[in-house]
Amino acid sequence: MAVAECIFCKIVAGSEECHELYRDETTLAFMDIHPANEGHCLVIPRAHFATVFEMPPQSFAAVAATVAKLARAVNETLRPGGLSLLQANGEIAGQTVPHVHVHVLPRRAGDNLPINWDRNRVGDPVHADAVHLAALARRIRARLE
Ligand code: AMP
Ligand code: ZN
Repeated sequence: MAVAECIFCKIVAGSEECHELYRDETTLAFMDIHPANEGHCLVIPRAHFATVFEMPPQSFAAVAATVAKLARAVNETLRPGGLSLLQANGEIAGQTVPHVHVHVLPRRAGDNLPINWDRNRVGDPVHADAVHLAALARRIRARLE
C-alpha cells in the first residue's frame, strides 16, 4: 500500500480526523474508531512501517514507551480490571491496517473478547517437546546474533 493511501499516515498528517490522546516526536496515540471495549485506543509510530519486521528496534522502543504511558493513563481513568496490549503483523495475525499499531485494550470480567487462548491447551505435543523447544530456541538465537 502506498503511504499516501494509508489511513494512519493520513491521521498523522492531519488529513483524517481522530480523537488524539498524545503525540511526541515519533509516536501518536488516539482512540480506536471501532472500540472492542470502552477505552480501546491505539499507539502508532508517526513514520510508516507496515509491520514490525520493517521497523528498527529503536522505533518500536519509542512506541513501547508511549504504550506504557497510555496503558497507565487508561487504567487509572477507567479501572477496567485488566488491560491487554496487542500488536498484529500480517493478515493471518489479524492485522487489518498495514501501519504498525499497538492496541491498548481495557479488559473486563466476562468480556469474552476472542483473544485469549486456553493456556492449558494441548496443541501439537511435538511443539511442546523439550528437544523441539531446545532446537527451535537455537535457531531463533542464531538469528539474534
Ligand atoms: P488491526 O485489526 O490489528 O489491524 O487493528 C486496526 C484497528 O484500527 C481496528 O481496531 C480499527 O477499529 C482501527 N481503525 C481503523 N481505522 C481507524 C481510524 N480511522 N481511526 C481510528 N481507528 C481506526
Ligand atoms: Zn502509514
